[in-house]
Amino acid sequence: MRKIPLHWQIVIALITAVICGIFFPDTVEYIDWVGIVFLRALQMIVVPLVFCSLISGVTNIGSGGNLGRIGTKTIGFYLLTSIIAIITGLLLVNVFKPGAGTSHLIENLAKSTELTSKPIGETLIEIIPINIIDALASGDMLSIILFALLFGFFITKIKSGYRKTLEHFFQGAFEVMMKITLFIIRFAPIGIFGIVVKVVAEQSDLIGLASCLGKFMLVVILGLAIHSFLTLPVLLKFIGKINPLKHVKSVGNALLTAFSTASSNATLPLTMECIEDNAGVSNKISSFTLPLGATINMDGTALYELVVVGFVAQLYGIDLTLSQQFIIILTALLSSIGTAGVPMASYVTMTIIFSAVGLPFEAMALIIPIDRPLDMLRTATNVFGDTCGATIIASSEGEKLKII
Ligand code: ASP
Repeated sequence: MRKIPLHWQIVIALITAVICGIFFPDTVEYIDWVGIVFLRALQMIVVPLVFCSLISGVTNIGSGGNLGRIGTKTIGFYLLTSIIAIITGLLLVNVFKPGAGTSHLIENLAKSTELTSKPIGETLIEIIPINIIDALASGDMLSIILFALLFGFFITKIKSGYRKTLEHFFQGAFEVMMKITLFIIRFAPIGIFGIVVKVVAEQSDLIGLASCLGKFMLVVILGLAIHSFLTLPVLLKFIGKINPLKHVKSVGNALLTAFSTASSNATLPLTMECIEDNAGVSNKISSFTLPLGATINMDGTALYELVVVGFVAQLYGIDLTLSQQFIIILTALLSSIGTAGVPMASYVTMTIIFSAVGLPFEAMALIIPIDRPLDMLRTATNVFGDTCGATIIASSEGEKLKII
């Protein structure tokens, strides 16, 4: 029998969950635990996944003398596009306010928030953990990220024998964490079923919820469209002297694959093929920029995370202070870097931002029904951002591209 693709399984789960929640609300008490188990499993994997992903990512960049001119340019470009994506998300969520005036929708979720409103200086100082084991145990993501970056960086500075051992160890550990994540994601249809039945059964204003989620989706889609059809093409044209239309044509297959798999990692082989064969980028540049991009450059994810956080804050009627917004921008950047290129990965790393500002993670239950289609779109944006990095760096190195 042919296997039904995961996104269709999720669609089927969603429809049955909505029907079940409307017509058999009493079943919630028997089904509820499935969603709780799924969310706990996702939360379980956050710390080890981000920790190993960052260490193996940093050691990969640092090894083989890659951190030269091309390395610095690539990282600079990826950081620039991620920051632009974050600002786009922040502006749109503040302009359109998809979650404003809808606080009744969260009646059955966590009632109160413990928003951390420490001054920026204090938050920055506290990023340095006094005790890293304590930080790991309590899921202090900013401290964990800082330590992982330092750890990865200094692995590249030790004797080659030790270095290779640690590189192998963390590469292996990262692959295990990815396998565990994908294993958990296989249960997404069941988990989402449990969560959505509860949300629907306990929601008295379903139309209000649907229209609010619709607005949220439109804001995300608008943001991704601005980034893909305006920001990146402008950078292609003016920094890379590349024809954006020809660029898009050359990577069309990779974008479609990213859209249907919702995984930048799974798309990577195809992305490399498109960039080398159709766009004419050398293997030297594509084999560095694209795997690095699939690991650290997630423009769509970064934008999405900002809109989610703004949306949830609006649901709770919270006005984020300037220092909280700064922390959100910083954590969104770091968490998009730490996000692995697999489906629903930002659903996992989003906890980093939620815990940094003190928003209740339960609110994510509202978003889970529509996460998948948005995941497909943000993954296509992520991959498009990587391909732009590859061609712009190649053109800046004087390579003769086929897409000028
Ligand atoms: N699915 C995305 C990717 O693979 C990551 C995310 O969940 O945002 O690029």
